[in-house]
Amino acid sequence: MESKRICQSCSMPLSDPELFGTGKDGSRKKHYCKYCYENGQFTDPHITLEEMKTRVRDKMEEMKMDADTIGISLNSLPNLKRWRKVETIQLTA
Ligand SMILES: [Zn+2]
Repeated sequence: MESKRICQSCSMPLSDPELFGTGKDGSRKKHYCKYCYENGQFTDPHITLEEMKTRVRDKMEEMKMDADTIGISLNSLPNLKRWRKVETIQLTA
């Protein structure tokens, strides 16, 4: 479904194509937002899941989101593509 597209790194809703990340060739990468993914790479390739949680919480508090909404977003982070992949690599290593 197209309606619930979120960034697969930080869980930000990608409601507008302007928010999509960009590839090296300038193409839009619809799985990530532009804050996480730019010019074909993660803007912060070494960030950990815990650091991302802190960043997302700070950002959402700054945007005056309510605690429930913040909690849902934080809980969804480990299920996102970026973080699941790390886990898979560890499991198969
Ligand atoms: Zn993002």
